[in-house]
Amino acid sequence: MSGRTPLAAEVARFLRQRAELQGGELVLDGVDRAEALSMARAGRSVAGDSGPDAPGRTVEEPASGTLRSTDSPDPETSLASFLKAEVEARSRRDAEPEVDQGATDPELPDDYDALRELALGCTRCRLSETRNQVVFADGSPDARLMVVGEAPGANEDASGLPFVGQAGRFLDLLLACVGLSREESVYIANVLKCRPPGNRDPQADEIECCSPFLRKQIELVQPEVILAVGTFAGKLLTGTSSTLGRLRGEVYSYEGVPLLVTYHPAALLRNGRWTRPVWDDLQLLRSVLDGG
Ligand code: SF4
Repeated sequence: MSGRTPLAAEVARFLRQRAELQGGELVLDGVDRAEALSMARAGRSVAGDSGPDAPGRTVEEPASGTLRSTDSPDPETSLASFLKAEVEARSRRDAEPEVDQGATDPELPDDYDALRELALGCTRCRLSETRNQVVFADGSPDARLMVVGEAPGANEDASGLPFVGQAGRFLDLLLACVGLSREESVYIANVLKCRPPGNRDPQADEIECCSPFLRKQIELVQPEVILAVGTFAGKLLTGTSSTLGRLRGEVYSYEGVPLLVTYHPAALLRNGRWTRPVWDDLQLLRSVLDGG
């Protein structure tokens, strides 16, 4: 159990409790990205932890951060409240139209840096007119796991990196629970590289234009496993139009690479009912990575 921080262990324990008890919202504050990544680096072997802590307790580590659960979060600081508008937009995507599954563009370069440069200057679709930055990817191109999200939000558009807001920090903690970190073992990209205005749903033609970048990224990174988070990524990579609830919990194959689908971390933060399935999906992910 060496190399494990107390807070990372508490995160795993807390999620296990919420999964078992099917509790309400999760509220995470006081943990910045650097701290979350630090926990992720030290989070190996955490997934097997269990403990007797009572649900709803406050978990603190001095000079690090706070993870707490509450049935009555402060609306000014609650992660659920902070994400509410964005999550509501995402939750409407259960009713989105079927998307074109796209195809690999033979014109895209086989060199990773050249592909990235091409994407950073891309004007293939209307989103180039409203974005601030193209959000290409984050993490290691040598990663074992590739996480695929949907599209950049405001924080990502401002920073140029995927999953850097509250949901991103939570994703880092979820990955830490199964011993993974974006700095060492995870590569993260989105279906769309540019932010849809107002966080509206991606449109079919935008996905058709942009998905070749993602397919080429997968081809070049060659991850051992792909984890699609959210409805759009799940549908695109499985090539189906099923709801996310039906897609999760199975191991698919994308061009021979094992593919799992789970809920978007922002959706999980909003709706505690999905804690158990996400926890189960993370265990399945760990099992696949371990060759189980
Ligand atoms: S969303 Fe994709 S296809 Fe559209 S401009 Fe951005 S990088 Fe190009």
